[in-house]
Amino acid sequence: MSEVNLKCACGTVKGKTLAVSSRIGTRITCCCDDCQVFAQFLGQEGKVLDQYGGTDIFQIPVSFLTITEGKSEIACVRLSPKGMHRWYAKCCNTPIGNTFGAGGPFIGVIHSFMDKSEMSEVDLGKSRGHILTKFAKTPVPENLKGSSLSINFRVVAKILSWKLKGLNKPSEFFNNNAEPICEPQILDKKAQNS
Ligand SMILES: [Zn+2]
Ligand SMILES: [Zn+2]
Repeated sequence: MSEVNLKCACGTVKGKTLAVSSRIGTRITCCCDDCQVFAQFLGQEGKVLDQYGGTDIFQIPVSFLTITEGKSEIACVRLSPKGMHRWYAKCCNTPIGNTFGAGGPFIGVIHSFMDKSEMSEVDLGKSRGHILTKFAKTPVPENLKGSSLSINFRVVAKILSWKLKGLNKPSEFFNNNAEPICEPQILDKKAQNS
């Protein structure tokens, strides 16, 4: 179990997690088109996406994450009015992570916000695999694909147990009135694609 130090590319936004491990969190590589659009929106495809268009994400309870510096630089975008809240550091367009609304107990922390210089000591575990591979840019080899059934089961079970434990609070991203800390920009993905 180790804390993970978090920081944006320019170092303005910093934070950390509570001690986590591969047992607590779920590490997956999401190939969905929304994660790809988020990276494109930030102009960070080269840094964030792997060769298949996948985003390496570590899902933990949102209350496990604290921001220690630069919170005013955090911004939020949603790809549709009901889409996930996608948080990033606007100082340097580093993606931070994805959450549901205020009641949602999890954040999918994006690898780009993790301090790589210390990652070797941290046990996030191996990725459980690439998911939503039908959206991948190039075909994902079978041995990299995660079993969607077992991953879905694990993700849903984790989210339910975190919700029961009340781990949606405290949150760095929503205040006590369940409002986001900054007004999310809503992107209309369909309009963008046409
Ligand atoms: Zn920054
Ligand atoms: Zn995704």
